[in-house]
Amino acid sequence: MSEELHRATVVVIGAGQAGLSAAYHLQRRGFVSAVDQPDAERTFVVLDANPAPGGAWQHRWESLRMATVNGIFDLPGLAQPAVDETEPSRAAVPRYFAGFERTFALPILRPARVVAVRCADDDPDGDLVVTSDRGSWTTRAVINATGTWTNPVLPRYPGQETFRGRQLHTRDYVRAEDFAGQRVAIVGGGISGLQLLEEISRVATTRWYTRREPVFRDGEFRPEEAGRETIAKVMADVEAGRPSRSVVSYTGLIWTPYALAAKARGALERRPMFTAIEPMGVREADGSFTPVDAILWATGFRADLTHLAPLRLRNELGGIAMHGTEVAAEPRVHLIGFGPSQSTVGANRAGRAAVGAVVRRLSAPAPSMASAARSDARTPT
Ligand SMILES: Cc1cc2nc3c(=O)[nH]c(=O)nc-3n(C[C@H](O)[C@H](O)[C@H](O)COP(=O)(O)OP(=O)(O)OC[C@H]3O[C@@H](n4cnc5c(N)ncnc54)[C@H](O)[C@@H]3O)c2cc1C
Repeated sequence: MSEELHRATVVVIGAGQAGLSAAYHLQRRGFVSAVDQPDAERTFVVLDANPAPGGAWQHRWESLRMATVNGIFDLPGLAQPAVDETEPSRAAVPRYFAGFERTFALPILRPARVVAVRCADDDPDGDLVVTSDRGSWTTRAVINATGTWTNPVLPRYPGQETFRGRQLHTRDYVRAEDFAGQRVAIVGGGISGLQLLEEISRVATTRWYTRREPVFRDGEFRPEEAGRETIAKVMADVEAGRPSRSVVSYTGLIWTPYALAAKARGALERRPMFTAIEPMGVREADGSFTPVDAILWATGFRADLTHLAPLRLRNELGGIAMHGTEVAAEPRVHLIGFGPSQSTVGANRAGRAAVGAVVRRLSAPAPSMASAARSDARTPT
């Protein structure tokens, strides 16, 4: 593609589970490739920053196997092939996604990183302009599916820059053996913190630090029920425009086999967060010093929406108020794989819901008063 201005009725940003679900439903609703048939009435294109299919799965750590993921939902219209539980998810899932893209011949440009989305003019029902490193697109609607992998949360602690050992985020973790024989501080009380604690504690001396006492769910875990409860809580937050929190702060931790294994090994002794980092270790909350060779920040991820900054979607709370997948103050933009849809099943459903809403909006006879009112209500940040 050249640097000229292209046109697509809908631009999907990101080709992980959420973006692929949206692409599938756009195609089912009669949208065709904006690359191959640019003059058709309803067209779409998917811009994906990754060099290959698989979304964030292609970057997961080597030891995350199909047996240790929480469960990956089928993409719409194509069941996953038989799963080898011992295979790394970073190989199995991208292979499945690649097959999906081929089966449906989806118009995905990659690598194509979107750097900005802007309004083309002052008309709140006018076009948006999507600028990427593979050219710009004017469009009626953006379905944003950029995930969280590219926006790791890295807390700051006094003295952090003086530390002489290794510091890394979950994002950069490869395998437990890299820490064999070392003293490792693992920070974070979420699912990945617990998983990495369990595997690293097999080969190293670990210390587990969390800001709050981790809460394990007692009693039988019913995924359907827990999923519904969690979605309702996250939905309430995003509808009110509050920033959503980490998954585990809504769900609590579950006594999975790896949590039980870590407990049996005595690795689940949680310490309150250290107060400072020194060249050779960490200063504990009680003032004592613990020498460590490495600090692993299993501190999670946030939605990566920097390219949407020109649209000023965030409110004074730092959140984005939503109606379903639609940004309340900007109905031309849908966020999927965001808030309550941050799971493979949620991403699937959000993709379908966003396409349904886009089709309804495109079919509406004239700009609605509601959208003008919503545009007036947008709060700059
Ligand atoms: C370690 C870990 C394990 C998980 N395990 C599970 C599990 O077992 N089951 C489950 O249901 N969920 C799991 N989740 C959550 C799950 O991964 C997600 O909800 C879902 O897979 C994310 O899909 P997505 O499409 O939203 O994002 P991603 O898979 O992250 O895809 C986003 C895509 O957008 C692209 N992109 C980003 N920015 C731009 C840009 N500016 N321009 C263009 N493209 C861009 C990226 O390159 C990427 O290809 C896990 C999450 C993590 C972090």
